Amino acid sequence: MTARVDHAVSSGTFSLDGETHEVDNNIWVVGDDTECVVIDAPHSVSDILAVVGDRKVKAIVCTHAHDDHVRVAPALREEVVAPIMLHPDDKVLWELTHTDYLWDLDLADGVTIEVGGTTLQVLHTPGHAPGAVCLYAPDLGCVFTGDTLFQGGPGATGRSYSDSDLIKESIRAKLFALPDDTVVHTGHGDDTTIGAEKAALD
Ligand SMILES: [Zn+2]
Repeated sequence: MTARVDHAVSSGTFSLDGETHEVDNNIWVVGDDTECVVIDAPHSVSDILAVVGDRKVKAIVCTHAHDDHVRVAPALREEVVAPIMLHPDDKVLWELTHTDYLWDLDLADGVTIEVGGTTLQVLHTPGHAPGAVCLYAPDLGCVFTGDTLFQGGPGATGRSYSDSDLIKESIRAKLFALPDDTVVHTGHGDDTTIGAEKAALD
C-alpha cells in the first residue's frame, strides 16, 4: 500500500496579542489505508476525523503551537489515542492555549516519523514561532510547512515570539535545500513549490 496525502480545510479563529482573526486552516493527513499521521489540529475534531476515516492515527504532529494549529489536539488525542508531538521551544505558545494539558513527545530537528511505509523528516524552522517545524516527505516529494512558508512568501512575523530575520534564515537553510520541484503543503491557503518560492524571496 502506498502512502498518500489527504487534505481538508477547517475554519475558526486565531488569537494572539489580544486580537482575534477568522482563519481557514489546512488539515493534512499522511498515511496509507491502515494508519496515518495528522499534521495540526486546528478547530474541529470532526473535521479531522472525516479525513482520517477508520485508520489508526499514529501521531498528532503540530507544526507550531499557535492556537489555530493546536486547539483541538488534546480532544483529538482523547478520540484516537495517539501522542501529540511538538517542538519544546513552543512551550510558551502552547501554554497560552492549553493550561490543563501538555503534549506527549518532543520534536527535534532530524527526528523521523514513519507512517504507511513512508517517512516524515522533521526540520526545525524557527521564525514564525520559536518551535516551528516543517515535515519533509522525500518519497512523496512534498513538505508540510505549517506557517513557515506560504504561496507568496514567509509566514507572518509581526506578532509576539516571531522573528523576521530568523524565518528567512530557516527558509533558506532548511527549505531551499530541498529539491525545487518539492510541493509545499502550507498551513493556510494554496500549495506552492520550493522552486517558485525560491525565485520570489529576496
Ligand atoms: Zn501560526
